[in-house]
Amino acid sequence: MPGLDFIPSEIQDLKDAGLYVHIRTLESPQGAWIVVDGKRVLNMCSNNYLGFANHPALREAAKKAIDEYGVGPGAVRTIAGTMKLHLELEEKLAAFKGAEAVISFQSGFNANLATIPALVGRGDAIFSDELNHASIIDGCRLSRAEIIRYAHNDPKDLEEKLREAQGKYRRMLIVTDGVFSMDGDIAPLPEIADLAEKYGAILMVDDAHGEGVLGHGGRGIVDHFGLHGRVDVEVGTLSKAFGVVGGYVAGSRELVEYLRQKARPFLFSSAVTPPDVAACIAAVDILNASTELVDRLWDNTRYFKEEMRKLGFDLGKSVTPITPVMLGDAKLAQAFSRRLFEEGIFAQAIGYPTVPRGKARIRVMLSATHTKEDLYFALEVFAKVGRELGVIG
Ligand SMILES: *Cc1c(COP(=O)(O)O)cnc(C)c1O
Repeated sequence: MPGLDFIPSEIQDLKDAGLYVHIRTLESPQGAWIVVDGKRVLNMCSNNYLGFANHPALREAAKKAIDEYGVGPGAVRTIAGTMKLHLELEEKLAAFKGAEAVISFQSGFNANLATIPALVGRGDAIFSDELNHASIIDGCRLSRAEIIRYAHNDPKDLEEKLREAQGKYRRMLIVTDGVFSMDGDIAPLPEIADLAEKYGAILMVDDAHGEGVLGHGGRGIVDHFGLHGRVDVEVGTLSKAFGVVGGYVAGSRELVEYLRQKARPFLFSSAVTPPDVAACIAAVDILNASTELVDRLWDNTRYFKEEMRKLGFDLGKSVTPITPVMLGDAKLAQAFSRRLFEEGIFAQAIGYPTVPRGKARIRVMLSATHTKEDLYFALEVFAKVGRELGVIG
């Protein structure tokens, strides 16, 4: 097919630039130790923050749901796909988050694609942090609203842009990641909420990496900053700390009622399966009952980051369990990741376009599943490979 002739040279360009992604295959469940391409390695790159991806209570709940409800939803939510389980999950999530209501989606990515175009369109403006997640960017593009990017985590720049835009648009929406997934820094949400109120803008935060991590017992960034009632739209995912798959929006009853009528992935893509939903419910129940897993995640995070900084690694601006080990050059990052793997650690190199050019890194993800011994081992290997490749002295 001559039309596709461009593909081999595009792929070669990625390889030449050190940007070709080598996709590894897992041959075991998620956990602290996993089997990858036939090798048992310490897992330092999953989003399984709390160990829910292979938690016994979630496994049991999923099996029970299969026996009661089968494996498929059979339809989109609005036709015949809403089961009692979906409503139970939404009610429990709303109570957990301290929100009036919740609507769930098939993924966090879908939640953004669903929500942004339902809230704004032609003649409206979106103020979007320049480092926002790809799903926010795509949701913004789909909406056909004007997209105004502001400097990362910079309320001053945001305010200048809001001031310039005032009066020129029908509606204004400010949207930001809660926790930025590649740097592990947190949006200055209290300042952004002040600006949203001052300029009459809708405020939306995508807390995919804050759910189950930030706030009391993992209730997320709004809880972390005590901003209940001041953030209009809270997007979450059920595929990171919650360990399963799915996404949701928490907000007012009216917002949820509106999205149930207008959000296209809700109307035109089938519901999440019964075992997935049941497993998510079990995760919320566990988080409601105890902060133990979240506390352990933070203990591990504090310890590992402190020791890595002592070794001389540059961890960027991270204040969360997302721990970027900044290396700069994409090929160095790939070589570092390869050596880690040979030494028994699975931690992926991340380069352009996921992060800006020249800012390649190893992204280490900490988890409540890691033991102290796991972390000692990881620190030893990072020190060895870091010295070998001249990253630390
Ligand atoms: C991971 C992520 C998503 C996508 O969530 P999925 O449930 O995996 O689709 C959306 N937004 C942000 C900020 C993320 O980090």
